[in-house]
Amino acid sequence: MSNTAAATPASEALPDQNGHFGPYGGRYVPETLMHPLQELEDEYFRSQKDPEFQNELQYYLREFCGRPTPLYYAERLTKDLEGAKIYLKREDLLHTGAHKINNSMGQILLAKRMGKTRIIAETGAGQHGVATATVAAMFGMECTIYMGELDCERQALNVLRMKMLGAEVHPITAGQRTLKEAVNEAMRDWVTNVRHTHYALGTAYGAHPYPVMVRNFQRVIGDEARRQILEQEGRLPNLLIACVGGGSNAIGLFYPFLEAKEVSLLGVEAGGEGIQPERHAARFQGGSLGVLQGTRSYILQDEHGQIQLTHSVSAGLDYAAVGPEHAWLRDHQRAEYDYATDAQTLAACLKLSRLEGIIPALESSHAIAAVIDRAPKMSPDELIIANLSGRGDKDVQQIADKIDL
Ligand SMILES: *Cc1c(COP(=O)(O)O)cnc(C)c1O
Repeated sequence: MSNTAAATPASEALPDQNGHFGPYGGRYVPETLMHPLQELEDEYFRSQKDPEFQNELQYYLREFCGRPTPLYYAERLTKDLEGAKIYLKREDLLHTGAHKINNSMGQILLAKRMGKTRIIAETGAGQHGVATATVAAMFGMECTIYMGELDCERQALNVLRMKMLGAEVHPITAGQRTLKEAVNEAMRDWVTNVRHTHYALGTAYGAHPYPVMVRNFQRVIGDEARRQILEQEGRLPNLLIACVGGGSNAIGLFYPFLEAKEVSLLGVEAGGEGIQPERHAARFQGGSLGVLQGTRSYILQDEHGQIQLTHSVSAGLDYAAVGPEHAWLRDHQRAEYDYATDAQTLAACLKLSRLEGIIPALESSHAIAAVIDRAPKMSPDELIIANLSGRGDKDVQQIADKIDL
């Protein structure tokens, strides 16, 4: 794949050497993890400059994952909303059904290069677990996935997929029994087994180098979208929209456009049942600066620093902290962050299904809800690219329980 149309942002200088994006990011981990993280950082930056590694990665992204994904003109949605012209970046068409596999492929190739034989990962909705189990199977590596017991119940289909792929799935019974507890357990495993094990973290979050590494494995989304919109429209878009859980699909789309100041960036968080404590997962609405699971960022916490409960109709956005680079982009007003409620999200999901014949994941439906809000306020000669981060098959039962079909 040629990335020649992509600009190299001057902000490629961020994060700094210690993984800081201004006051955010860094490496806040127990002493025992400092050495493995340093080793990972060194090998990652070496691999980035190694053409053989890059060729191998591009080969598997193309032949196994199905890249490049189309940039699709959503004609009926555009007509319906009577505003900006809407394009969808179709990450839902990738193997396993979401953008997560871009990162799983990159990290597992890196693990192979480091001589590791075992992969571990955390997962919330199960999409990262499935992508990681898939790539591990393809390379014949041992794979263990940590998943909260409650998420195992909510996403039973993905648990079965992981098992079919030969992965061991460990349900975690501690605490809220969701993603946060799964991350703790994966970190515990890593400390014990680091000599032959790689921890494939699933989003642009955690201790340095994960936020920068995951961003760079996901920037292929934005690199392609930039080239495609230039081919199809001969100009850059006016607005990019993506949902934000940990932030990897959003930063992957945004990053190659950071230097093009005329392109507005909008991240969409989970507004749940509205912005009241414990009823949402919109970290930029009511969150504050803190440290959680290796990094410093915006976190939903109470006045004693206790992590608050979160809620979202979509398990993939249901996390109390957001990737550090997003906090930095927001401080500098380079990106704007809004939220969509569960009700807006479900309505957007159904609208896209019926107008375009595409059933989006509930995570991605947050981005579509924002398209429905913003497009009518823009003129027909303006362009929006929305990231369709995943497909909705995994969510149909939950949707059917919530709306009368
Ligand atoms: C995991 C997931 C997300 C949220 O994760 P990010 O790191 O914020 O991208 C969004 N969409 C889909 C389909 C997912 O599976």
